[in-house]
Amino acid sequence: MLQYLIILLDGQSTSFCHHDVPAGDNKLIKPDMLRRAIRFAMIENLTIQFVYPATDLPEEHKHLIESIDHSKIMPATSPLAAEADVIVLNKWEQVVADWLNKEVAYVMRTPLSALLEHEETLVKALATGVRFNVVLTDVETMRDAGLERYKAFLEVVADRMVDAYKRGVSPQTNLLTDRLVLTEMNNCGSGDASLTLAPDGKFYVCPAFYNDGSEAVGDLDKGVSIPNAQLYKLKCAPICRECEAWQCKRCVWLNRHLTLEVNTPGRQQCVMAHHERNASRQLLMAVRQHGSFLPETDIPEIDYIDPFDNIKK
Ligand code: SF4
Repeated sequence: MLQYLIILLDGQSTSFCHHDVPAGDNKLIKPDMLRRAIRFAMIENLTIQFVYPATDLPEEHKHLIESIDHSKIMPATSPLAAEADVIVLNKWEQVVADWLNKEVAYVMRTPLSALLEHEETLVKALATGVRFNVVLTDVETMRDAGLERYKAFLEVVADRMVDAYKRGVSPQTNLLTDRLVLTEMNNCGSGDASLTLAPDGKFYVCPAFYNDGSEAVGDLDKGVSIPNAQLYKLKCAPICRECEAWQCKRCVWLNRHLTLEVNTPGRQQCVMAHHERNASRQLLMAVRQHGSFLPETDIPEIDYIDPFDNIKK
């Protein structure tokens, strides 16, 4: 069931996920379009997430935005970043642990090579207890050597996070702690629980589908019309529905890029998610050596790293 409407305020609204935004001129949503999008969300009872560009907005837009409950996703370089609920970082140099604010969630978009170089920065950020998610921007080109380096990196960071727990801090990150507290799949839900409205007044499965020039799935005049809408649901994803890497975002855009099917993941996605799952298990066991910790949580040991191999068995 549709629950969220992501409204891209501008053609240059920041990416907060795996895809890039093609360079171009700002293309701000027209005030009338924004008003109609807000009305659509109200009628459909959808929670709005506004996604900002790195530039300021006219007062008319700001006024419309404040007319409804919402959350704001902004790049760290936005002049309005002090009002953000989610701040998107594109450079590790933007992370200064002392400045991180617990009222805000952070998303770091990074290629693997830069992530590996910034272990210290990541550990310091996590030790503050802020929500600090990491989104890799080069999943599509990841090969076995990169996947092995990712696994080793997660194991080291998991070990180093134990100190924070011993000090009474609970780090929060999609890479290692979400799997500890989830009891079922927590996927991004694009095309199922969420939909995106772009500045052209059309609906897209998610911001990535707008930015890569994919077909729209409706507009504000005619409504939403997603071809084969059932394919975006977990029950129609035969590999994912059997999986228990519950923290995996099951990115339908990456799925389509890697396998040409929105409901079938590429190997890279699955292996990465299972390295995260297994490092989360390692973290759970390590913290438990210092006392009781999440007694209800059980992450069993598994003998596969790609659920497709498990299904083939
Ligand atoms: S790890 Fe693979 S199978 Fe499991 S949810 Fe993620 S994409 Fe689907």
